[in-house]
Amino acid sequence: MHDKIKALRKEVDGLDSKIVRLIAERCKITDRIGHIKKQLGLAILDTARENEIVTRLKHISPENIESKFIDRVYRQILLRSKISQLMHEYPNTNRRNVKDVLKKRPIIIAGPCAVESEEQIARLSRQLSHMGVHFLRGGAFKPRSSPDSFQGLGLEGLIYMRKAANLSNMFIVSEIMDSTQLDLGYDLIDIIQVGSRSMTSYSLLKEIGRVTAREGKPVLLKRGMSATITEFLNAAKYIFDQGNPNVLLCLRGIRTFEQTESQLRYTPDLADILELKERSNLPVLFDPSHATGRSEHIMKISKAAMVCGADGLMIETHDHPDKALVDGQQSIMPNVLKELMAEIGYTGD
Ligand code: PEP
Ligand code: MN
Repeated sequence: MHDKIKALRKEVDGLDSKIVRLIAERCKITDRIGHIKKQLGLAILDTARENEIVTRLKHISPENIESKFIDRVYRQILLRSKISQLMHEYPNTNRRNVKDVLKKRPIIIAGPCAVESEEQIARLSRQLSHMGVHFLRGGAFKPRSSPDSFQGLGLEGLIYMRKAANLSNMFIVSEIMDSTQLDLGYDLIDIIQVGSRSMTSYSLLKEIGRVTAREGKPVLLKRGMSATITEFLNAAKYIFDQGNPNVLLCLRGIRTFEQTESQLRYTPDLADILELKERSNLPVLFDPSHATGRSEHIMKISKAAMVCGADGLMIETHDHPDKALVDGQQSIMPNVLKELMAEIGYTGD
């Protein structure tokens, strides 16, 4: 009996080695396709082709293999090819080290709520980098309360951001909401953002911690809108317990009884800057855009956050807030940001 298992395992081991070699061979060929696409100026992303491959394989899958298994395995293989092609096409060309630039104070992160088009993000990153801002924010995968609202441009949005950031030598801060987005966005994004709604997704926090620990890629963790300070700090611990100490905390307003009648989107949790500074050594940022929901309050609340000892600000900035697809009412114009930066003594160096 024992010998029989041994023999069969040998067969299985042989097959596993073959499978890995075949996947590697497949990746080499798809990389070559990527190079040719680049030469011809063709788009890397081809969802139709991906679906065609998966459908064909599901069709021919033998009886003992469920088609949903083929689907899952192949989506992963195709993802690997896509990431490899993308990294070749859009390498991160920022010459500076993000962790070094994050040591400067105050940290200013600015940009639109959502990436809306290639032109929009290129225009904004040019303006912001001229003003001395090093960190460009922009949502590609957007967590929207309504499924009918604009959901973001997804991977395409991230590519536009990478191109824009490369041209203006900026770093990208962008949110991911699940592990597939983490795989897709990892190399394109410089600072991985975990949004308020994901602060309690503990398996995602663990995975982000594990994946980012390899190079200590910074993670910006936003406070859950109903989370206590202890819950917030525990969420950060989920990440650094996996081996990545580079977590930035970001307060963004909390939901209180005030929202039944106040014009504020959330209640700005300014005093919690003091509390967090006492209870942890992590940098504490403040997001006045989501905290108030109103662009006219951003200047004062930002200054108050700095007085309370914030290490920096994350501010939604748009050159046409009235036309913004998301959160225009809480976005300031670049010239207002410039004024604000001067008031808080930001020099960009
Ligand atoms: C954001 O900063 O893009 C965002 C969605 O904010 P929050 O997660 O704080 O709601
Ligand atoms: Mn927003």
